[in-house]
Amino acid sequence: MLGEKCHCKTAGAKCSEITDELQNKIYNEIWSMSWPQREVFVKSLVHKRSVGRHRVEQSLSSRQNTLKYNLNVGRGLVPVCKKMFMSTTAITQHFIRVHVCDTDANALIAIT
Ligand SMILES: [Zn+2]
Repeated sequence: MLGEKCHCKTAGAKCSEITDELQNKIYNEIWSMSWPQREVFVKSLVHKRSVGRHRVEQSLSSRQNTLKYNLNVGRGLVPVCKKMFMSTTAITQHFIRVHVCDTDANALIAIT
């Protein structure tokens, strides 16, 4: 739900910097875009971190943790946790998997 506050202690996340006002601004911005624009915008906020080859043998679920979520607060990107990102943008995990994790889309969707 939009406006849900996040008090997580996720390492590196600065969810407390995202105010209600910013959440509304970001939400309105994203949903006034066309789908192609939204795709580019989400790609600029969600960064995929490549996983070392030595981890290939690990379960697919652990590979979901390689995404870094950010929100644009006007003066730059602020790192937030996944929950905060989802509740602010209302962008679905499916969208992110398809457009951000394009190379892993099939594998990740398979475990949804
Ligand atoms: Zn958080």
